[in-house]
Amino acid sequence: MIKIKTREEIELMRQSALIVSKTLGEVAKAIKPGVTTLQLDKIAEECIRDQGAVPGFLGLYDFPNTLCMSPNSQVVHGIPNSESLVEGDIISIDCGALKNGFYGDHAYTFPVGEISPEVEKLLKVTKESLYIGIREFKINNRVGDVGYAIQQYCESHGYGVVRELVGHGLGQKMHEDPEMPNYGRRGRGKKFVEGMVVAIEPMINMGTQRIKQHRDGWTITTLDNLPSAHFEHDVALVDGKPELLSTFAYIYDALGIKSNEEDEFRQEILVL
Ligand code: MG
Ligand code: MG
Repeated sequence: MIKIKTREEIELMRQSALIVSKTLGEVAKAIKPGVTTLQLDKIAEECIRDQGAVPGFLGLYDFPNTLCMSPNSQVVHGIPNSESLVEGDIISIDCGALKNGFYGDHAYTFPVGEISPEVEKLLKVTKESLYIGIREFKINNRVGDVGYAIQQYCESHGYGVVRELVGHGLGQKMHEDPEMPNYGRRGRGKKFVEGMVVAIEPMINMGTQRIKQHRDGWTITTLDNLPSAHFEHDVALVDGKPELLSTFAYIYDALGIKSNEEDEFRQEILVL
């Protein structure tokens, strides 16, 4: 059952999403060759608790840490450890926070130092596909419209769209209805209605769409061991249009990146 949120609840969810956004910004400052994913996990946990929230993933389905840390060929759900990141790695970081009874949940794939042009393109296309998907999250569209748009765009670049893992409704639970696949058919699936809040999160592989699960019961890796990227935003349906609750602005500040992608997005949806 889809749980519709009131305006007040959406404002609370924006607070939770922004706690995650700020946390990813703090983590971004520390990403460099030599840092371990466990060190980054500690930074995130402190940052979340300093903002009066609790880590959303820690203990959720018995996950052992604050962040899901998935380097290179890991797709999602990697567990932080004491191995150092090295120049040329990418690291997908997924973060959740709970405050006032509502979750925030979003993700970003970071380069570690200089990365190859091929991998840089994977990150760029995956992030672009996120906004392309979000644009379809509007009144009277359906779940399949978002998935179709993401799939078409990523497959047009020859990338694999993971099937087994999907986005989701978000609220007082981390995973609510509906499931939001990154593939699908136009006009199919549940219809979007005012007050829905979802996490849209393309998980895109450079090679095959196929994945495998590690023996730890968590880590998911691409079957061909080629890199995978993951970007996620929390989005509310307000006045019939998608409204970003999370932001990558703190990440861009931390990394010294000039980006107006979110402003451009807001301009575009004015005319949807
Ligand atoms: Mg997430
Ligand atoms: Mg999610």
